[in-house]
Amino acid sequence: MFIFSFRLTKKLWLFGLFFMILIISLTSIFCFASNDDKTEDDKKDFIKWVDFNVPCEALKATAKLDIDSHNNHEEITYNWIELLAYLACKNGNNFDNFKTSDLDSLLNELQNGKTIAELTQNMKYYDYYYKSFSAVLHGFIGNHSVETPLSDGSTQWKNKYGVKAFLPIAKNYQFNHYDDFGNSRSYGFKRTHLGNDLMGSIGTPIVAVESGIIENIGWNQYGGWRIGIRSFDTQRYYYYAHLRKDHPYALGIQEGTTVKAGDVIGYLGMTGYSRKENVNNVNIPHLHFGMQLIFDESQVDSPNEIWINVYEIIEFLKQNRSEVFKSNLDTKDYSRKYDFTENLITE
Ligand SMILES: [Zn+2]
Repeated sequence: MFIFSFRLTKKLWLFGLFFMILIISLTSIFCFASNDDKTEDDKKDFIKWVDFNVPCEALKATAKLDIDSHNNHEEITYNWIELLAYLACKNGNNFDNFKTSDLDSLLNELQNGKTIAELTQNMKYYDYYYKSFSAVLHGFIGNHSVETPLSDGSTQWKNKYGVKAFLPIAKNYQFNHYDDFGNSRSYGFKRTHLGNDLMGSIGTPIVAVESGIIENIGWNQYGGWRIGIRSFDTQRYYYYAHLRKDHPYALGIQEGTTVKAGDVIGYLGMTGYSRKENVNNVNIPHLHFGMQLIFDESQVDSPNEIWINVYEIIEFLKQNRSEVFKSNLDTKDYSRKYDFTENLITE
């Protein structure tokens, strides 16, 4: 009995030693293999996760304060991102019961001479929310010029401070959507839905929400014909997928080129869910629209991608739509009707 248990203990001991050696070797191999990424990433202090829960009503209320105070040259000019970050601190980023009256006490304080810096100095997460919301909304409001129609049929350039991001569905085209972020999808491996589906008719012109550089274009097994556009500040990656079979993209749209907010980039379709190119395997014609936040380039094409819920953003952008017309009768391509510029360098 004693010998048996001794042998067993010895066996266990040897097994334990072997197991430990195995773990140590595996750990060192793993660390060695990913040494560059791991240690560098761990050192860097960047935001790793964002839940964007701000409802359209809060976006609209704070945007109006920001835009009106700038345009009316009011004594206090508001920054909607600061106001939203303050509200997020107050409600723990739970905007479910948001009421515009929630803003009133903050506005009172600001009107009584307090600054945002003073009001938020003891708010632990203010900086986090400010940076997160800036990453989402930085390109949405600012100075820009738009070609504006006059009553005599001509147009005139007008400088504006206001909303400069566009709804991805061109003006006068119908669509419907609901909050489908996080729903499950079954094609390929089981995964969650990381965007918002805008159901519409095949061929509906799709416009760029924000100006930027085309980073990815072409066939993708899940997204079909798709376009990925990176904002100039590099923090937002816009993903437009399931574009039309045979004629997915607008003229001149190719990787590396610059597009302006409101430019026609492609056409709504139902391509995707196939390894084979140019296949309509999606059941309902729609645009899949997604927004990824990038605080550090290590978050691109990695398991650490941050996709946010854009449902409320789409609701917010309904106020600014780009009118289009058939500009090329041979190719049947569309272009924007009214031009737009924004000085992104001096902003
Ligand atoms: Zn989708």
